[in-house]
Amino acid sequence: MSAAPDRGQSLASQADENSHQEMSAAATERGHVLFREKVRVPMLAGEIEPGGSLGEFIWFRTGGPAEWLVRPKDVDDLAAFLRHLDPAVPVLPVGVGSNLIVRDGGVPGVVVRLPKAMAHVHVESANRVRAGGGAMGITVASKARDARIAGLEFLRGIPGTAGGAVRMNAGAYGREVADVLVEATLVLRDGRVETWPRERFGYTYRHSEVPAGAVVVEALFQGVPGDRAAIAAEMDRIAAKREASQPLRSRTGGSTFKNPPGAKAWQLIDAAGCRGLTVGDAQVSEKHCNFLLNLGKARASDIEALGEEVRRRVRENSGVELEWEIQRVGVSDE
Ligand SMILES: Cc1cc2nc3c(=O)[nH]c(=O)nc-3n(C[C@H](O)[C@H](O)[C@H](O)COP(=O)(O)OP(=O)(O)OC[C@H]3O[C@@H](n4cnc5c(N)ncnc54)[C@H](O)[C@@H]3O)c2cc1C
Repeated sequence: MSAAPDRGQSLASQADENSHQEMSAAATERGHVLFREKVRVPMLAGEIEPGGSLGEFIWFRTGGPAEWLVRPKDVDDLAAFLRHLDPAVPVLPVGVGSNLIVRDGGVPGVVVRLPKAMAHVHVESANRVRAGGGAMGITVASKARDARIAGLEFLRGIPGTAGGAVRMNAGAYGREVADVLVEATLVLRDGRVETWPRERFGYTYRHSEVPAGAVVVEALFQGVPGDRAAIAAEMDRIAAKREASQPLRSRTGGSTFKNPPGAKAWQLIDAAGCRGLTVGDAQVSEKHCNFLLNLGKARASDIEALGEEVRRRVRENSGVELEWEIQRVGVSDE
């Protein structure tokens, strides 16, 4: 369901003045049901879909729906929506779900997915690249290459959005977002819009201090002057290396577990005899055993159970407690 774009803006500004009840009544008059028994949501100019499918686009291609799937029109729209949303309603931003297991019972509350309009990428002076939270890493790397900006090549290999990368401190080949981020703009859960310098993100390995429910809507990355051909060659090298070592064309969620200090998760998993292990239609990848696969009909519960079985076997075999890197969200349907 989506509000007509031309009416949307006025509805969004109405949101600043009217209560949810009045807005919901207005929406109901137009034949829309904008709240259910449990969760009421304010209007927004973008799109809002009750029971919106997440399994259609997240990498594992499985899992339950969002109670409300929200695609804001722009930053102001998102901010107004969150400002008027009952603070008790949980909010989960998602990118393209390249690091997500969405449980089979779905995600209660609001899931925010940024639209194309929030996926812009612009080159700025001083070898900087500004990207909307919905921009893909490969687009950021490619724009940087075309502007002869080096240092962002690693984003070529991370199949997620800029917002997801800022949140996850995504990295590869010795570089991570913490090394290249200047600042990022967030819409906080209460609707406040803030721009944080890198230091405020408290980055550690695949971890940031982005608060729960906050949506990263823009990021400014710093590169260094480079040679276009050399940058392109490095991006090609990364792409080829990935193709050779990772199941890129499969339904997967990327690296399942964090590398423990001084060790590689995949080696521990291999040593515990888990390569190729299955639970239902979920399998530990033969190609890279820190990747789990949905072979076709796996449910999220199969994938999560497989991950827990891997953790158990690794613990037994080497005494190491693997920590999930993949974000597991939502509720089970059991
Ligand atoms: C084949 C493959 C290879 C991969 N290789 C790597 C790799 O080399 N290095 C690496 O670090 N990762 C890798 N990943 C994992 C994944 O691509 C990264 O974690 C990526 O940053 C996730 O981005 P996303 O936009 O898909 O986020 P999602 O998977 O949708 O979400 C991940 C987390 O980020 C949060 N989030 C998403 N968008 C936003 C936003 N706009 N604002 C705030 N929070 C947000 C979500 O709530 C969730 O907690 C790989 C994944 C795959 C499938």
